[in-house]
Amino acid sequence: MQCTTCGEKKETRPYGEDGVAICFQCAMGSDEARQETERQFSAQLNACGQVAVLGDEAGPYPLKGTSPEH
Ligand SMILES: [Zn+2]
Repeated sequence: MQCTTCGEKKETRPYGEDGVAICFQCAMGSDEARQETERQFSAQLNACGQVAVLGDEAGPYPLKGTSPEH
């Protein structure tokens, strides 16, 4: 996916401001970006309920039912 911050096509996560796609380098590139990433990550993780799946470009999602690939 294309990073909304640097514009490069690389692996991204939806942890930019308001959940936009951002690459790891940009997400960790400044203190503000890192804090926003952590905020987005925990908000999305909490929204998943008890069991969440990680390690995917879509970000955390619930284990049952709503995988973005299906
Ligand atoms: Zn980037």
